[in-house]
Amino acid sequence: MRLPWSQADPPRQPKVPLAGRIPPEPFPPERTSGLVSYPPPEQWDDWTEYEATAWPRRVERRYSLVPTICFNCEAACGLLAYIDQETLQIRKFEGNPYHPASRGRNCAKGPATLNQVNDPERILYPLRRVGERGGGRWERVSWEAVLDDLAARMRRAIVEGRRTEIVYHVGRPGEDGYMDRVLPAWGVDGHNSHTNVCSSAARTGYALWMGNDRPSPDYANARFILLVSSHLETGHYFNPHAQRIVEARLAGAKLAVMDPRLSNTASNADYWLPTWPGSEAAVLLAMANVILQEERFDAAFLRRWVNWEEFLRDQHPDGPLTFERFVRVLKEHYARYTPEFAEQESRLPAATIVAVAREIAAAGSRFAAHIWRAAAAGNLGGWQVARALFFLSVLTGAVATPGGTAPNLWNKFIPMPWRKPPPHRVWNELLWPREYPLAHHEMSYLLPHFLKEGRGRLEVYFTRVYNPVWTNPDGFSWIEVLKDETKIGLHACLTPTWSETAWFADYVLPMGHGPERHDTFSYETHAAQWLGFRQPVLRVLRERRGERFTFTYEANPGEVWEENEFWIELSWRIDPDGSLGIRHYFESPYRPGEKLTVEEYYRWMFENSVPGLPEAAAREGLTPLEYMRRYTAFEIKTGAYRDHEAELTPEELAGARVDPETGLITTDQPAQPREAKPAIGLSLDATRRPIGVMVDGRPRVGFPTPSRKLEFYSRTLKEWGWPEEAIPNYIRSHVHAGAIDSRRGEFVLLPTFRLPTLIHTRSGNSKWLNEISHSNPLWIHTSDAQRLGVQTGDLVKVITEIGHFVTRAWVTEAIMPGVVACSHHLGRWRLAEQAGMERWSSALVELTQEPGPTGEGHRWRLRQVQGVRPWPSTDADSERVWWQDPGVHQNLAFPVHPDPVSGQHCWHQQVRVERAGPDDRYGDVVVDTGKAMAVYRQWLALTRPGPGPDGTRRPFWLFRPYRPAPEAYLVSRGSGDPGAGVSA
Ligand code: SF4
Repeated sequence: MRLPWSQADPPRQPKVPLAGRIPPEPFPPERTSGLVSYPPPEQWDDWTEYEATAWPRRVERRYSLVPTICFNCEAACGLLAYIDQETLQIRKFEGNPYHPASRGRNCAKGPATLNQVNDPERILYPLRRVGERGGGRWERVSWEAVLDDLAARMRRAIVEGRRTEIVYHVGRPGEDGYMDRVLPAWGVDGHNSHTNVCSSAARTGYALWMGNDRPSPDYANARFILLVSSHLETGHYFNPHAQRIVEARLAGAKLAVMDPRLSNTASNADYWLPTWPGSEAAVLLAMANVILQEERFDAAFLRRWVNWEEFLRDQHPDGPLTFERFVRVLKEHYARYTPEFAEQESRLPAATIVAVAREIAAAGSRFAAHIWRAAAAGNLGGWQVARALFFLSVLTGAVATPGGTAPNLWNKFIPMPWRKPPPHRVWNELLWPREYPLAHHEMSYLLPHFLKEGRGRLEVYFTRVYNPVWTNPDGFSWIEVLKDETKIGLHACLTPTWSETAWFADYVLPMGHGPERHDTFSYETHAAQWLGFRQPVLRVLRERRGERFTFTYEANPGEVWEENEFWIELSWRIDPDGSLGIRHYFESPYRPGEKLTVEEYYRWMFENSVPGLPEAAAREGLTPLEYMRRYTAFEIKTGAYRDHEAELTPEELAGARVDPETGLITTDQPAQPREAKPAIGLSLDATRRPIGVMVDGRPRVGFPTPSRKLEFYSRTLKEWGWPEEAIPNYIRSHVHAGAIDSRRGEFVLLPTFRLPTLIHTRSGNSKWLNEISHSNPLWIHTSDAQRLGVQTGDLVKVITEIGHFVTRAWVTEAIMPGVVACSHHLGRWRLAEQAGMERWSSALVELTQEPGPTGEGHRWRLRQVQGVRPWPSTDADSERVWWQDPGVHQNLAFPVHPDPVSGQHCWHQQVRVERAGPDDRYGDVVVDTGKAMAVYRQWLALTRPGPGPDGTRRPFWLFRPYRPAPEAYLVSRGSGDPGAGVSA
């Protein structure tokens, strides 16, 4: 039996049976009687179960099951909402077996969506501040009033040529492509993301190699898996990846985890590789050295797909242009990375390094590897860790192979939407400053510092599912700027939950959780391409029953809206008569000149730009939209391997030119992508764009890099000021062991690890998740604890460059000596007893502020008044809350550490740890924001500002979210508006 979302082959079955996995046939023959794993889809409209709370009586309840997609991490697993047919209440969420990535399985955070929907303290109506910003007084306001106010301000900014004053700052996007349409339609360079506090460093490393900024490991078919960090197990594509790692291991694959902390993943691995933070690239290059010296690399793959000729031409011009010479140069260069050198840097035994290198070589093209945050996000030069890791994949020829690691966009599909606006023509230097021409994403966490320096101001600032006061380093500087109305004219916070940032907004606008909104997305969870469709389950069910709604908030709890309809309404009001050229993009494809509905947006996309979907739907007698409403996922392609080997078609080659020296194939024909993402690898000279490369005499598609090959050597880095980093290299981190004096109580703090049961801000209103996890003590090695005279549970003071925080110690052997670690999920706080934050997770605190000693900034102190307590509410469980510890907000005490190349905030830091004093209390955070500005300036001084050799702000080929038109790249063009009143 074929699963209905499958166009091609049915999904590969695991090689060995797994307890609880989907059976080979989706539903066993006896599925209509007795126990089954999942209700079959033909019974989703009317499904009967016994009511659990009535046990031991057998009381039947009838449900309608409506699928949607989890919004609690980026994995986007399938969920099935069980809606009581009598009360129309969602009673539970379970997995959707028809989702190709999650296959019916979820982590704890998926079912906990129910808590988020039913939280008695959630925000149900739009709120407007009363009194001063941050004063904590609110009044209910209508969506109409909110939209009119925002639209008037935004229209004025656009007409007056202040397009850089509109900024949309997103935390968890949870969607693909929608805002790619909205922001260019407004003609603003206003997209700001959280990415530089998350994954920019890893993205930089991958993008320099292959043009795509994420890896897609094919874990299920791997023989050896190397994870740098525990992140796969706890955070990224957690459940879809984790289940495939488990399958591979049950089939005999081995797993190695490089992490100074014994994570859950590391504790289950064949090799735990605890390395001194920041030394990872030295270890990985030592492994590369072993593979090179022992001649265990895939020479054929290297010869065909690495840009070795460009490397020799540029860096070693005096000699023959032969592959043999390239290999000799490689061996000579990396010979310095001996296992003994790596041991000295990392404290990992040289013998272990050699053993793992040989395991990797033995796995060959079935070696899968991944790094996302962890070492990349922690260290100065962390982007070179990602580069060094991918070097191992290249050496073994394990790129886009079964069991290898592919560029992510080959395992992802973004459909083209209706009427896509052209790129905007503005460059916003508040987000993309000249000091960071290679920054992979916007320098978002430096916004307060830039505003304090007077680099600009914002008229309208949207934060959307984003909580910078709590998530980012240096949160007190954020508070100072958010409170200053001369710097931020209006702050609108679009959020499903209360947050520390929402407290400092002018509007708090409630947005839906996963089952309350529409989105489409696709992620590189395995070697396939699939499209997921999130939908508001109550609206869908009630419309099936014949009701009609204009907006999703009419069917959601209170007036909780979905962003997509909000943006359509707002855009229409900014340009009601169409004179700005904005309204054009929000008109219906089916009713010319009339306003687009959210249903029409997805209907058009499913009908016109998802290959195979209309046909699959027709086979079931459904329209494409009905099909997606029924299953919420469609698999477009399976077995996505070796796309770089594809040959260009005669049509693509018509008029193409081949460079006789490099084999690069270019064309003057415009791109006709079926997908919304612009093709990467475009050249600034829009008249000719690279489309492929000659390999062994055949015109291959290759990789989206300037050479269309894997770039071991980056001419971009050389030309943009970093020649010494042009090939994979080891950069000594700012927390290198030589910089830490343990006799003075100094340690490296790892503040980034995740707990698998929490999300950043949004788990705050899940009672089940907070019951499971609610503490973030400081992990400290037994030997270090003995030296400090500290035992588990003792209060310790962690002193950073700008202040300190006070937490409890957890003495353990599961962390390297000299290193301490603290999970970043906890320490939520609120400033009023009954407002501004859900009480499942937060401490009531008081904030005090006095002028700083340097005359710049302030000295702030946050002190917990009380921890988590039971309280009366419409949910009886709120009076049963037994936990008291809300954790400690450590990020407040961190200064910013922007990496000068990737722009990534380098989270690891040198700290001093001492026993807490008599005046210290659990949860205290003390910070001097004047010192924070000084640290910011120290790191700013490390940069090598643009423009580049061609007078541009940034290499045009390099991925940039919301890439502007080519002319905006020219520094000579200035950064402001291309012209007041110009249509978008
Ligand atoms: S891994 Fe968990 S939180 Fe993430 S999408 Fe899947 S069920 Fe939701």
